[in-house]
Amino acid sequence: MDVKLVPTICPYCGCGCGLNLVVKDGKVVGVEPWKRHPVNEGKLCPKGNFAHEFIHRDDRLTTPLIKKNGKFEPATWDEALSLIASKFKEIKSKYGPDAMACFASARVTNEENYLMQKFARVALETANIDHCARLCHGTTVAGLAKSLGSGAMTNSIKDIEEAKTIFIIGSNTFEDHPLIARRVVRAKQAGATLIVADPRFNMTAKQADIYVQFRSGSDVALINAMMYVILSEGLEDKEFIKNRTKGFDALKEEVMKCPPEWAEPITGVPADTIRKIARLYATNKPSAIIYSMGVTQHSTGTDNVLSMSNLAMLTGNIGKRGSGVNPLRGQNNVQGACDMGALPNVVTGYQAVINPELRAKVCGVWGVKDIPGKVGLTIVEVMNAAEEGKVKSLYIMGENPMISDPDVNHVEHALKKLEFLVVQDIFMTETAALAHVVLPAASFAEKDGTFTNTERRVQLLRPAVKPPGQAKPDWEIICLLAQKMGVKGFDFKSQEEVFEEIRKVTPQYAGMTYERLRKPEALHWPCPDTSHPGTPILHMAKFSHPDGLGIFFGVPFKYQAERPDAEYPLILTTGRILFHYHTGSMTRRSPTLDNEVKTGFVEINTEDAKALGVKDGDKVKVKTRRGEIEIAARVTPNIMKGIIFIPFHFVECAANRLTIAALDPFAKMPEFKVCAAKVEPIPVE
Ligand code: SF4
Repeated sequence: MDVKLVPTICPYCGCGCGLNLVVKDGKVVGVEPWKRHPVNEGKLCPKGNFAHEFIHRDDRLTTPLIKKNGKFEPATWDEALSLIASKFKEIKSKYGPDAMACFASARVTNEENYLMQKFARVALETANIDHCARLCHGTTVAGLAKSLGSGAMTNSIKDIEEAKTIFIIGSNTFEDHPLIARRVVRAKQAGATLIVADPRFNMTAKQADIYVQFRSGSDVALINAMMYVILSEGLEDKEFIKNRTKGFDALKEEVMKCPPEWAEPITGVPADTIRKIARLYATNKPSAIIYSMGVTQHSTGTDNVLSMSNLAMLTGNIGKRGSGVNPLRGQNNVQGACDMGALPNVVTGYQAVINPELRAKVCGVWGVKDIPGKVGLTIVEVMNAAEEGKVKSLYIMGENPMISDPDVNHVEHALKKLEFLVVQDIFMTETAALAHVVLPAASFAEKDGTFTNTERRVQLLRPAVKPPGQAKPDWEIICLLAQKMGVKGFDFKSQEEVFEEIRKVTPQYAGMTYERLRKPEALHWPCPDTSHPGTPILHMAKFSHPDGLGIFFGVPFKYQAERPDAEYPLILTTGRILFHYHTGSMTRRSPTLDNEVKTGFVEINTEDAKALGVKDGDKVKVKTRRGEIEIAARVTPNIMKGIIFIPFHFVECAANRLTIAALDPFAKMPEFKVCAAKVEPIPVE
């Protein structure tokens, strides 16, 4: 019997836990702890523990498929790639590069994301490259880059243990990032105070020393009122403000309009509670902010993120151990996909495409004259342009917008209007089903390459088994397609070769090699040269702006794009649950995880349910101006009155048939966390 353990990285959330895949007779049969791994030290959440269960599913894609007369037929790689190459060339010459778009993926490696954005910019010559970070932390990248000069988690996961106050806002850390929650527990055991602000009394809120139930979308009002208290009582860090920041006067002018009594009716939080948490955060230092999509997924998401930086800089809680502004990135490699420039405004290493010098540097390595120097379309803008007939072809790698994007009815319409849709994935997803060509990809267990977790730690994957049938790693597919199109610069023989090119054009990764990444600790970026130890904590001596200063922004509170009214009196908010992941394409195919939660539900406050005549377990209709779904009611006092919550993983009761595609003006982030909704009981026949 041939049994081996292959250490690699969990394919689910941004914690980036290490695990051992147990391989027996050429198949992955289980997961064992990786005790020396620095993030999780051998512990795993249920998703990690059962991360092997989808790998050998019978419904894995194993051969390229071409749709003929509405039905998929198996094809050879040569047939599929020849068809795609000729269609891409035809569309480019008929409509121009602006009519083409590519979506990279937070689920695949850095090398594959790097190649996808290079393919878009070099082979298709289009500026339209984006990925699902747009839908989770696009506002983090925009907001933190504006205020701190770098759009990433400032401190390391381990460092959370050193905080004396932890302020979690808009993050259900204990369900969505369980191995980061473990560090919060350790901090509490060492005496830290935990404040949790969230509209739901969720698993995380239940661990809080102080729970602050506040209305979805009122983040700026809450933080401004906290800063009002800090400034009124002289609790700000005057030295830090003087030496390390600029823009304080603009902040002060805005904040002093926002006393707690002003914020109380907007947020639903008593003024005295706002005072209490403000004093605690400002004085019981070091204080760490942890946030996630509850902060970012708003039409005011960038403002919300700027508020987090304002609060941290005002109290000097940044650039030190146990402090910081810590966005928890959702997917396993969403940090890396952003780092690699799978975004329409920057190439790899966050180098602006509109900057001719930075472009020239990258083009020199790529051996091309130039790449598009304008900012391309974001995900929702691509869908809008497709519906208007302006975008004609879309190449999607490892994403499932038919469940993940806002206003899915609109997405479906847009995808069906495309002249040519290519989807590359491991399963026949709801999006792949609409494609003209489907390409079978390798899963995380079948390839090497690197993932970058939420704390900027760049980690090596190791292949445990071969891909099923004719499936290939995404990097290899992109290279073959580029070669088929006659495009130079894609003749890589391995992901390591791709990584060597990444190092040349990505300053933050320049000092990393596969050899250095082989040890469990790996390296945190920035790591500018091969003798550099990596950077677990950012901004210790200076911020990442050219002058080294952090920038305060006075942020006025704004209401959300769609507010409850007489017709739609409730606020709908969406999110994730412990046992499922994103669009469910992997976790719903994992029998153990699927058994835990079989389908979706809508959480309704007990008083709201009583007024509606809805009992726990009843089937109800949830309606918004975009659509309606039927779903089981979960009646609970744990959600704020006037708010309902639906997890977005389940296609049969898809929350995103209801959500609104209103966008944050800076980051173009859709407002998943707030729209107006109503609930109607379904009469039992
Ligand atoms: Fe995987 Fe995240 Fe769970 Fe760790 S916490 S095992 S990375 S899903």
